[in-house]
Amino acid sequence: MNQKFFRQFTLFLVLFFIGISSSYSQNDECGFEFTEENQNYYNSIKEHIKQLETEFLQNLFTGRSSTVVSSVPVKAHIIRQSDGTGGLTDMELNDAMATMNSIYINAGIEFFLCDGINYINSDDYYTYEQAEESLMTSVHNVNGVINIYFTNSITSSSGGSLCGYAYFPGGPETILMANSCTTNGSTLSHEMGHFFALSHTHGNSNVFNSTQELVNGSNCESTGDFICDTPADPKLGVNNVNVDCNYTDTTSQDANGEIYQPDPLNFMSYSRKRCRSLFSPQQYARINAIYQVSRESMACPSFSTDFIADETETCGTDLTVSFTDNSVGATSWSWDVDGDDIVDYNTQNVTHTYNGVGSYDVALTVSNGSNNISKVKAQYINVGAQEISTTTIELSLTLDDWPAETSWNFLDGDGNVLYSGGPYVEGVDDFTTKTEMFTINPDLCYKFEINDSYGDGICCASGNGNYELRSDDNTLLASGGNFSSGTTNSFFNGVLSVNKFSNEEINLYPNPASNSFTVKSRIRPDNYEIFNALGQKIKTLKVNSNQDLNINVENLKEGIYFIKLTRDNSSQVLSFIKD
Ligand SMILES: [Zn+2]
Repeated sequence: MNQKFFRQFTLFLVLFFIGISSSYSQNDECGFEFTEENQNYYNSIKEHIKQLETEFLQNLFTGRSSTVVSSVPVKAHIIRQSDGTGGLTDMELNDAMATMNSIYINAGIEFFLCDGINYINSDDYYTYEQAEESLMTSVHNVNGVINIYFTNSITSSSGGSLCGYAYFPGGPETILMANSCTTNGSTLSHEMGHFFALSHTHGNSNVFNSTQELVNGSNCESTGDFICDTPADPKLGVNNVNVDCNYTDTTSQDANGEIYQPDPLNFMSYSRKRCRSLFSPQQYARINAIYQVSRESMACPSFSTDFIADETETCGTDLTVSFTDNSVGATSWSWDVDGDDIVDYNTQNVTHTYNGVGSYDVALTVSNGSNNISKVKAQYINVGAQEISTTTIELSLTLDDWPAETSWNFLDGDGNVLYSGGPYVEGVDDFTTKTEMFTINPDLCYKFEINDSYGDGICCASGNGNYELRSDDNTLLASGGNFSSGTTNSFFNGVLSVNKFSNEEINLYPNPASNSFTVKSRIRPDNYEIFNALGQKIKTLKVNSNQDLNINVENLKEGIYFIKLTRDNSSQVLSFIKD
């Protein structure tokens, strides 16, 4: 290397790094603000997304059954100067979308451009100020898609320079991106993360070391970024992340005095933008769960794909399902109805019989002749009911702003309605919570079905309604809110259906009994429980001697009862009559 070149090269390096540091010295961060509504929204779906995340992570570690990803529509709005010059180039847009898609494929989703690019020629919006948002988006936003505006610069309402900003579900379906940050490889994925309800890894305040999240992870579910596999982060930045993307602060501590070890590579941090290159597994799971709960119905007006099934669950071991295509603009169809990545049908509407117990992903890919888009409904068809063990099921139903659209039934395995509720009263029941208790019997199937007559579920367009079904011990059996026109949950109540504890013949006598009866068995059980005909447990006793098997029933009302005798985790159930 000759001397002159070396000097010029050094000068170039110096200028290069000055350039970097000056661009970082501005407040080129993210304008996302976590609101009380965001907190309420998160609280309302917390348990449901936890279930979905668990399923997603299980699939991730065991190999997902279906590798088809769901297509999510994006409307690209490119802001240029009034004379039509400037603005993000098509190539820059395509590169940014491709980079983002290479990341989000891990969450089971991909983004596609809906109806080309909308160019907005406006010197005013080219130097965009946050206060202009509603004026601009009221003219240009396309409903039901993600509207991303690419502009030259973004000034926040407090006057700072922003790289971009976005909103949690419930907020506007709008993302703003500064062009220079669109091409940095990480900010677009970061803002899209907010759109799928991800918070910053440093929590919801941007003040250094104000996160409540502890290094030991003990409160990770309820504070910080509500994600447990991202370490507590005091707030990364150029001051504490070096050019090699390593965290350099060795002193900052959490409330327990433990030193932070945040991840400078996480997309949702404020680390150096070129360092940000990964989401954690739970962040991917969260994105997918939020897609299913809040973003699944997004559709490009000219080209979209969706489908419904006439039945999704059965207690039995086989189920025939008719799928109806609800796509728009499709000219060909490919169905994978059992999540094995093999196309099963190529007709528009299909009927399929599932033989065998299982939970099946259903994927529909459609083409309009030039592009393919897909929708996957994870574990959509469930053959063989969820096995539960309880004597009652409690329904807690929180309504949205349109209670007259909501009704539900609780049925037995023969389809008889045992309990029902709704439609509720408009203007009276809005946003209220109803609770109901269902008494159920052992060894039987039950089905809960809930319907929304308008077809928009009870979450999330008009309030964050949801329903939850819980067992005696408060275990969440099922929940949901974003179910379009309706959904069902089937249960098999196996409360008394357990392995026989011996092949010994066990006798009860006398039966019927008026005062007492005796259990006669060569092998003595460890304990017994007595249930009434409704499956409610009314007595439990540990068996210490044969004397304990002379059972007093004087105080029982007349009727049929069950006695469950247990030894070494296996049981036998017998019935007796009290007269
Ligand atoms: Zn952000």
